[in-house]
Amino acid sequence: MPTTTKSYAAQSATTPLEPWNLERRDCKPHDVQIEILYCGVCHSDLHFARNEWGMTIFPVVPGHEIVGKVTAVGDHVKGFKVGDLAGIGCLVDSCRECDNCKEGLEQYCSNGAVFSYNGQERDGSGITYGGYSKSIVCHEDFVLHISEKLDLAATAPLLCAGITTYSPLRHWKVSKGMKVGILGLGGLGHMGVKFAVAMGAEVTMLSHSPSKEKDAKKLGAHKFVLTSDPEQAKAVTGYFDFILDTVSAEHDYNFYLNMLRTNGKMVLVGVPPMPTPIHSTSLIFGRKSLGGSLIGGIPETQEMLDFCAEHNIVSEVEMIRMDQINEAYERMLKGDVRYRFVIDMASF
Ligand code: NAP
Ligand code: ZN
Ligand code: ZN
Repeated sequence: MPTTTKSYAAQSATTPLEPWNLERRDCKPHDVQIEILYCGVCHSDLHFARNEWGMTIFPVVPGHEIVGKVTAVGDHVKGFKVGDLAGIGCLVDSCRECDNCKEGLEQYCSNGAVFSYNGQERDGSGITYGGYSKSIVCHEDFVLHISEKLDLAATAPLLCAGITTYSPLRHWKVSKGMKVGILGLGGLGHMGVKFAVAMGAEVTMLSHSPSKEKDAKKLGAHKFVLTSDPEQAKAVTGYFDFILDTVSAEHDYNFYLNMLRTNGKMVLVGVPPMPTPIHSTSLIFGRKSLGGSLIGGIPETQEMLDFCAEHNIVSEVEMIRMDQINEAYERMLKGDVRYRFVIDMASF
């Protein structure tokens, strides 16, 4: 018997999110059922709710920064028991057989990773619904262990904002002595600063919001550059080894590629709805590279969570009630988030 679960859904791209009941399946032998206690609010949730990427299936229940308590487990579950803390990020399934899955890169599954919401279940049973909800059921292979040491609400954003910034910093081997620019101080950006600092880099916050300078320094950034000030931007021409671009809205990549030194690399994680032209000369002069990165696989997500527990790293959060979600989206669009909204599911 499936369980009816309260959730918040967008019924169309132009209507606010509102309460909606959905059916969660019973635990299959390898499933874990989680009572959701907190769910972070990612800018991708807003892109999806408003169909800004043109791929939303309505109704959509967003939310992929999920933490809570295990309330039931299937007969064959080995890694979790009732009462454990558990997390679910952007992925809930993949084929497990392709080269990418075998390498722990389930997000790039050649047969199609299943995302936590707006994804097609592999058995054809329907669409996935995310964490703006009281509970969720997921195969244990995609459930993460959450440390009791960290504040639980502030841990939720690690499941997307955390892994999405940790993974490229690791892949491109950011380390001591490197000059790193983090572009955009929002949910992803503030985690990027914390991780790059913890990895020993000299970190510069690249922001278009003058009001965020103090916070950037508090988060650990060594320098702050106001990108809308031509003098400040000019001063970092040819300066960075690595730039992580987390900006959610349209912006000129060429402008930031100009801030890389010879052999420098810029990696995109932000997904503005519109494509942006790039001049080949922005890359050719200085043998520069432009890359991209999508969240992170399950083993690396667990590694990141363990790294956070060891280094005492969590997100800076502002708690909201479930019924404040539409207001939170408006504030996110204005860049008015310090630095991640987290929904307290007890409010719902
Ligand atoms: P967010 O909290 O809203 O932060 C985005 C930041 O971008 C803002 O705080 C702002 O920083 C900057 N920004 C916004 N509008 C701008 C503009 N017009 N010009 C210049 N800068 C602007 O969003 P988020 O949750 O961190 O997500 C950021 C992006 O990453 C979204 O597009 C999201 O969909 C994407 N994402 C990608 C992945 C992935 O796997 N690749 C995973 C999660 C999210 P300043 O005020 O400091 O300039
Ligand atoms: Zn996200
Ligand atoms: Zn696969």
